[in-house]
Amino acid sequence: MYEVIFMKVQCVLCDSREEIDDSSIDSKKIRNHPLYLYTCPKCTKRISQQTLIRINSKNYDPHRPKSESFYRL
Ligand SMILES: [Zn+2]
Repeated sequence: MYEVIFMKVQCVLCDSREEIDDSSIDSKKIRNHPLYLYTCPKCTKRISQQTLIRINSKNYDPHRPKSESFYRL
């Protein structure tokens, strides 16, 4: 019989506690590097959206050659 094992994790931003599959990539990262900070999918989506908005704003300076593809969503 195959038994699914879960790992208990806590999001660093919203402190919500979740259980993730022990065979997932996230749990492997946490096991190999204990200082890896876990963020829940909700926070990951929120932050990635805010980052894209910031990148596409005119005030953002990436300090690298400006290419057209970099500014696309
Ligand atoms: Zn969170």
